[in-house]
Amino acid sequence: MSAELVRGCLYIAASILFVFGLKMLASPATARKGNMVSAAGMLIAIVTTLTAMAQIRWVWLVAALGVGLVAGVAAAWLVKMTSMPQMVGLLNGFGGLASLLVGWAEFHRQWASESAIASFTMLSIFLTVLAGGVTFTGSLVAYGKLSGALSGKPLLYKGRNIINTGLLMVIAALGIHFSIRGSGPLNGAEFAGVYIVLAGIIVLSLILGILTTIGIGGADMPVIICLLNSYSGLAACAAGFVINNNVLIVSGSLVGASGMVLTNVMCKAMNRSLANVLFSGFGAETASKDRYQGEARPISVDDAYLILEAAQNVVFVPGYGMAAAQAQHAVRELGELLERNGATVRYCIHPVAGRMPGHMNVLLAEANVPYELLVEPDDVNPTMDIVDVAVVIGANDVVNPAAREDRSCPLWGMPIIDVDRARTCIVLKRSLNPGFAGVNNPLFFKPNTRMLFGDARASVGALVSEFKR
Ligand code: NAP
Repeated sequence: MSAELVRGCLYIAASILFVFGLKMLASPATARKGNMVSAAGMLIAIVTTLTAMAQIRWVWLVAALGVGLVAGVAAAWLVKMTSMPQMVGLLNGFGGLASLLVGWAEFHRQWASESAIASFTMLSIFLTVLAGGVTFTGSLVAYGKLSGALSGKPLLYKGRNIINTGLLMVIAALGIHFSIRGSGPLNGAEFAGVYIVLAGIIVLSLILGILTTIGIGGADMPVIICLLNSYSGLAACAAGFVINNNVLIVSGSLVGASGMVLTNVMCKAMNRSLANVLFSGFGAETASKDRYQGEARPISVDDAYLILEAAQNVVFVPGYGMAAAQAQHAVRELGELLERNGATVRYCIHPVAGRMPGHMNVLLAEANVPYELLVEPDDVNPTMDIVDVAVVIGANDVVNPAAREDRSCPLWGMPIIDVDRARTCIVLKRSLNPGFAGVNNPLFFKPNTRMLFGDARASVGALVSEFKR
């Protein structure tokens, strides 16, 4: 068997492992194994690629590996769990930057060794640089908005959509010129001209990434993170065409496609179209402070315990505050105590709860909450009338009934978890302050709502102590 054939078979094996790994990631029960399967595919892909290279500068490879290892281990130790969303955004951006650099470097390499390059390769270099550049700076802006370094409000200015469309058209025109003219043959002056065009494409793509993301509000960042993830896959896929590497084409397409599927899921969860998320400047208006005012009814831990002790059907609704308080282990303990007390317990997870896709699932899985107890809003909402107690743990926007009741509310139309329809709703948070979207919450003033003020971990811990007494 020729070396070429063996390599092809190994790349196919790696691609199959990627596909199965991705499929397994779709369920919490198989997600860990899925990660291992995909990692095995990546190991095969890397080893196969390295052994196929005629000459490797090991010094560079080992140095890059060392820097990556140190940065990865340091980030794993130092980055707080609550900062993971912005970390994920940043990693997307680095993927885009890597693709951009591959496209740029390949342009150099090809021109150093060839007298003419196929237009298709030049087109692939253009697309790699465009997708990589937009992903890189778009992700930096997303990082800034999620970490609080930049304002979460969309930066809106007149004619922004026209400017962005115009910029994209200029980049497309430069790309066509680059792909046709740049394929050669070129003399020294012509090469310099094509190089300037490439530099222009890189700079304009970086600017486009900033301009398209800066006009999107912080509340829409879940969708943008998924979209940028998809872009980083597309950039890697285009880079695969540039360096003629099939496994990079396959893995890039998988990331691109799965990012798009997730983007669609997140848009549906917010009842918005992707076009609306990208172009509407959602979140620019500040909700009026005196909107939905009323009298909130605080409750003590003792009284909350008595209500829970008598409950037969309990639904926990976790949100960002559970992550901030690191309350997931205490929540699992409370859930077990309630079950032992004879209650049916479910954990209802909204797709945009927390600050990154799957945020609540990850935290509850870490606390060993059984997967079968995790349910979706569509499963719980129809049964909400027979739920004795809905316990809202640091969630706010995802349980805001104004999304259902008030057409003028910025959250209008977003499907929510209808905790206000439960017999009693106990909300655990520190104040009456709004959540991420900055919209006040009329839930706090409903007659069946009781506010258990305080840090979620401390409050749940106190309830656990009451049950153990
Ligand atoms: P949320 O609306 O941001 O509300 C979280 C609440 O947690 C806050 O109102 C806060 O109230 C409370 N809280 C914070 N620290 C706490 C602590 N230590 N103990 C108790 N409570 C605490 O969260 P959500 O309901 O999960 O909704 C998610 C929001 O984030 C949505 O608007 C979504 O669009 C957006 N978002 C989601 C993602 C994603 O991918 N999932 C990414 C980016 C943005 P107090 O200050 O009064 O305690």
